[in-house]
Amino acid sequence: MNLSRRAQRLAESATLRVSRKAAELRAAGREIVDFSAGQPDFPSPRVAVEAARQALADGFTRYTAAAGIPDLRTALARRYADAYGAPWTIDNTVVTVGGKAALFELIMTLVDDGDEVVLPSPAWVSFPEQIRLAGGRPVAVPTDPGDGFAIRAEPLLAAITDATRMVLVNSPCNPTGGILAAADLRRIVETCAERGIVVLSDETYERFLFDGGEYASAAALAGEFPEAVIVVGSFSKTYAMTGWRIGYALGDAALIKKTAAVQSHVTSNATSFAMRGALAALEGAEDDVRRMIAEFRWRRDYVVGRLRRLPGVECLPPAGAFYVFPDVSACYGDGRRGSVELAEYLLETAGVAVVPGIAFGADDHVRISFACSRQDLETGMDRIEVALRD
Ligand code: PMP
Repeated sequence: MNLSRRAQRLAESATLRVSRKAAELRAAGREIVDFSAGQPDFPSPRVAVEAARQALADGFTRYTAAAGIPDLRTALARRYADAYGAPWTIDNTVVTVGGKAALFELIMTLVDDGDEVVLPSPAWVSFPEQIRLAGGRPVAVPTDPGDGFAIRAEPLLAAITDATRMVLVNSPCNPTGGILAAADLRRIVETCAERGIVVLSDETYERFLFDGGEYASAAALAGEFPEAVIVVGSFSKTYAMTGWRIGYALGDAALIKKTAAVQSHVTSNATSFAMRGALAALEGAEDDVRRMIAEFRWRRDYVVGRLRRLPGVECLPPAGAFYVFPDVSACYGDGRRGSVELAEYLLETAGVAVVPGIAFGADDHVRISFACSRQDLETGMDRIEVALRD
């Protein structure tokens, strides 16, 4: 089969590969604790389910405008205006098939062959693949585990060249949990705006912050730098709605219009009744969100405490998201050289699925998701402890 060069260059998502292997072992009768999931274990908010059910009953089952239903676009714009003072309206807002489609469509809209996209590393697996699919070149700038993987302005700005088209930041970061402070974000946006570079801020994990403090959203800078700031968000994590596939982007109106045009040729619109559910979540699920975040904070502290008891394992508490990204290289040895072999070892001998750090560009680490029950966390950590002692 002659596949396109584009497809040949594409790596399978390592996160999905681990999930598939875990599913195979499960199908064969093994009981597996899954620390690889990138989604909350909570149910979607009842208000969202009810609104989607009602939309279906009302026959709201046709195509909508490509950019999404006006009520949801307006409500999103208002939310960013209220929370961060962004001067955004419906014209600055597009609803997409998950945050993933928003990112891809924006990258397709902005990045040409040979353009460079500067991004902190470790980074979520889909960023470099999406950039390459668009013909661009990802330029990875390391963040430091000893600094809590904080995203700092200076090293990112130092990586900018004449070929840079975009700086792509993701705070809190999947997989590290590192965050970008307001002062660094401002430095990045100011410098990029001066040089005609856009800052794409993936704020998918915006609400998952564990140590207090205000979230530094790029939306807060949209008034000053309207053409430089683009925000992507998602209902997937905040509202435990991964399967609904509703995300969005906000930014300059002309850019958003073009992004919606790209979307019109790819997915048309996001699913009509799922958008109604998302609107209900946005307007009425704040209590669900707060309950979930409080639980995730407890789990973070628990899992970090357990990991730190393991000899040689190094791990600072992540500031946000719902992953810990410990340095486990002290556990490498015979039959477990590198993060892939260690992850396979843990899956096969301990029945615990974790994601090898190499998928995110950091082979000394593995990613452990704490978006699972307390019982699973305890069982999984017990098993890891035993497996790594051998
Ligand atoms: N950005 C990041 C950093 C993510 O981790 C994810 C999901 N794993 C997404 C975007 C996309 O999520 P969705 O398409 O479900 O909105």
